[in-house]
Amino acid sequence: MKVVEIKNLTVQYPGVRALDNVSFSVEQNDFLGIIGPNGAGKSTLFSCMLGLNTQYNGSIHFFGKNIRGSKKYLRDVGYVPQKPIFEKNFPATVKEIVRMGLRQKSNEERVDKVLQDVWIHELSHKRIGELSGGQQQRVFIAKALVDDPKVLILDEPVTGIDTQSTELFYGILRELNKKQNITIIWSSHDLDAVNKLANKVACLDRTLFFHGIADEFFSNEELVKKYSEASMQKHMHNHVES
Ligand code: ADP
Ligand code: MG
Repeated sequence: MKVVEIKNLTVQYPGVRALDNVSFSVEQNDFLGIIGPNGAGKSTLFSCMLGLNTQYNGSIHFFGKNIRGSKKYLRDVGYVPQKPIFEKNFPATVKEIVRMGLRQKSNEERVDKVLQDVWIHELSHKRIGELSGGQQQRVFIAKALVDDPKVLILDEPVTGIDTQSTELFYGILRELNKKQNITIIWSSHDLDAVNKLANKVACLDRTLFFHGIADEFFSNEELVKKYSEASMQKHMHNHVES
C-alpha cells in the first residue's frame, strides 16, 4: 500500500503560486529526499501534508485515505520542524519536551527508549536550552518518534548544525529507516547527503521536475548539474537580496 499519494497539488498564496500541479507517491519504507532551493515550496508541501494548510487544490492521501476526511492519520506521522532553537532558560527539560509528543498514553514507556535511540538519554533532565543545536535537533526527533509513527517528515532538519552532529543525525535516520522500517520524507539542500541516504528523490521548484529512484537521478550528470546550478543561483540570489 502507498503511504502517501499526492495528486495535482496546487497552492496559491496571494500573489505567489507556491506549488503547481505536484503529483507523487511514497511507498512503504521509502527514504525520500526532497531537494529544492529556497522558496521551492518544500515547507508548503509539508504543511499541506500535515493538515496545517488546507487551502490547496488537488488531493493528499495517507494510507489510502483522503486527509480531508479525518485527521486520524496524524497519529502515525512524526514531524521534525526546521531549526527549533530554544533560549537558555526555556522552562522545560529534554524529557518533558519528548513527552509533549505523546498523544497515546500507552506509549509512555517509549519515552526512555526513544531518548536512547537518539543518543540523548544522559541529557534527559537538562533544560532544553542548555543543549547545543545538534542535540536539540535530536530531542525533536525523539519527540516525533515517541508515539511510534510509521512515517517521519523532516523539514531541512540540519540547517545550522555542525558537521559532526549532522553525521550522527543522518546515522540515526538510516537506522530508523532500515531497522525500524519507518518511512522517511525529508527535505534538504545537501545533495551529497541525499545521494548517500535516500532511495527516492523528488526535485521541487514550484513544480516537480523529477521524481524517482535516487540512483537514476544521481547517475544522470546533466540532471544533477542542471539542478545544482539552478539551486545554487537561486540561493545566491536570495542571499544578495536579503
Ligand atoms: P521552501 O520551504 O522550499 O523554502 P516555502 O514553502 O516556504 O518554500 O515557500 C514557497 C513560496 O511561498 C515562497 O515564495 C514563499 O515566499 C511563499 N510563502 C510561503 N508561505 C507563505 C504564506 N504563508 N503566505 C504567502 N506566501 C508564502
Ligand atoms: Mg522551508
